[in-house]
Amino acid sequence: MSIQFKTIVELRAMLDSKQISAAELMQESLGLAKKHEELNCFITMNEEQALKKASAINLDEKTTSNLLGIPLAQKDLFCTEGLRTTCSSKILSNFIPPYTATAVKNLEDAGSVTIGKTNMDEFAMGSSNETSFFGSVHNPWKKEYVPGGSSGGSAAAVAAGIVPAATGTDTGGSIRQPAAHCGITGLKPTYGRVSRWGMIAFASSLDQAGPLARTSEDCAILLNAISGFDSKDTTSLNIEVPDFLENINKPINGIRIGIIKEFNLADLDSKVQERFEESKKTYEKLGARFVEVSLPNISASVPTYYSIAPAECSSNLSRFDGVRFGYRAENTDDLNDLYIKSRSEGFGDEVKRRILIGTYALSAGYYDAYYKKAQQVRRLIKEDFEHAFESVDLLMTPTSPNTAFEFGSKGTQNPVELYLEDLFTISSNLAGIPAISIPHGLVNSLPAGLQLIGNFLREDQLLNAAHIFQKNSDFHLLKPDLERSQ
Ligand code: GLN
Repeated sequence: MSIQFKTIVELRAMLDSKQISAAELMQESLGLAKKHEELNCFITMNEEQALKKASAINLDEKTTSNLLGIPLAQKDLFCTEGLRTTCSSKILSNFIPPYTATAVKNLEDAGSVTIGKTNMDEFAMGSSNETSFFGSVHNPWKKEYVPGGSSGGSAAAVAAGIVPAATGTDTGGSIRQPAAHCGITGLKPTYGRVSRWGMIAFASSLDQAGPLARTSEDCAILLNAISGFDSKDTTSLNIEVPDFLENINKPINGIRIGIIKEFNLADLDSKVQERFEESKKTYEKLGARFVEVSLPNISASVPTYYSIAPAECSSNLSRFDGVRFGYRAENTDDLNDLYIKSRSEGFGDEVKRRILIGTYALSAGYYDAYYKKAQQVRRLIKEDFEHAFESVDLLMTPTSPNTAFEFGSKGTQNPVELYLEDLFTISSNLAGIPAISIPHGLVNSLPAGLQLIGNFLREDQLLNAAHIFQKNSDFHLLKPDLERSQ
C-alpha cells in the first residue's frame, strides 16, 4: 500500500498494525523524494542516516509518541549536526553545523526521522522560492508555478505526499503563504512558543518555527513536540505547554470570529472572495458568529515590517564575512577586500537589497525616522489586536491575496509586488500572535488558503477551529495530480 499523501495519524496506524515497518516507510519516503526530484523540494538528503535510524526503531517498545518512525523534512534553515545546512545561500553552501536546532532535536527525540533539508528562499527572504541559490521549487499543482515562500520546499514536499509533515519558519508569512499556495495546513505559533536556538536568524524579533502538514491534527502533533522553554533561547517562553490534541475536537458553536474592516476584500480576485464567503458560511453552519472589527493601524503592517525585518537582517547577517565560516572569495588584496568580495559573491540580490535597506534604516541619521518609528507603529498594531481580542475569539482573512503565480511573473521589476503577497500574514508576526492557514478550495485549479489568527498562546483555539472545519469539508483531502501537473 502506498504511503504517499498519508497523514501522520494514518502512518501511525499502518506502523502500529505492522502493515509496514519503520525501515520500509523510510525507504518509501526516500523513494518518493527521488521520484519527484524535478520539484526541487530538497537541497540535501539524509538517506543513509535516515535508513540507519529507521532500521533501529523497535515498534514493540512501549511509547506514547505519535512521531515514532515518522519521516519528516526540515527547512534548510535549521542547523542539523553533521548534515549540510545552507539557508539556500551560496555563502553557506558548504556549511556543516556542529549542533542541531532545538526544534529539530525535539522532533527527533520524539522518534521522528529527518529525511532531508528542504529548499527555501535565500535566508528566508522571499515569497516565491525564486531567490534560492539552488533553484526554485516547483508547485506540485502546476509545475511552472511558484510554491510560495520562503518555506516552499517544505510545503511542496508535503503537498506532493513525500513526507506527511515538515518544519518551516515564519517571519512574515513564510509558513502560511506556501501552505496556502500548495493546498496544505501551516501554523505559525506565538512568538516564544518554540525555541529559535539553532535556527539561522533572519529577523530575530519576528522569526518563529512551526509545522506544515496535511491536517491541523498533524500540526498539533508537531506543535506538541516542538513547543516549550529552552534555556538556550532567552525569548522562549517559560510556561506550561498544553496538549494541543486534547481539545481539538471540541464543538465550536458560539465562537466569535472577527472580520477585519480595514482589509478591503472587494479588491481581491472575485473567485478568492467567493471562497472566503463560502468558508464563512461553513463556519456559520458550525455555530460561529461573525463580527466586524476595526484594527485602525493594520494597513501600516507591510511598511512597518519592511523597516524592521531588513534592519534586523542587516545585523544578523553581518556574521557571514568569509572569515569565520561559509564562502570565502579568492584572490583578495587585503582583509577589507576579502569581506567585500566574499559578501558580494556569497549573497544573492534580494539578500543584498535587504542588507542595504536595513543598514540605512539603522544608520545614525535615520534610526529615529525609520527603525524607531517602525517599532512605535508595531506597538500600535499589537494594541489593535489586543483590543480586537476583547470582543472576538479569532480573526479570519484569506491567507494570501491570490493563489500561486507563474515563475518570473511577480517582483522582477518591482520587489514591492512580492512584498504585498504577505498583506494578510505580516501583522501577526509584528504582534507576536499565532495564525494558521488551511486549504479552502481551488481557484482556477490552484489551492487557496484561509487564515485564522488567534490571541496570544491560543494555538489550541486555532487548531480546534481548523480541525472542525476539516472534519466538515474535504478541501484538505484534495491532491495534486503529479503526473499531469506540467
Ligand atoms: N515574504 C516575507 C519576506 O520576504 C516573509 C518571509 C518569511 O516569513 N520568512 O520577508
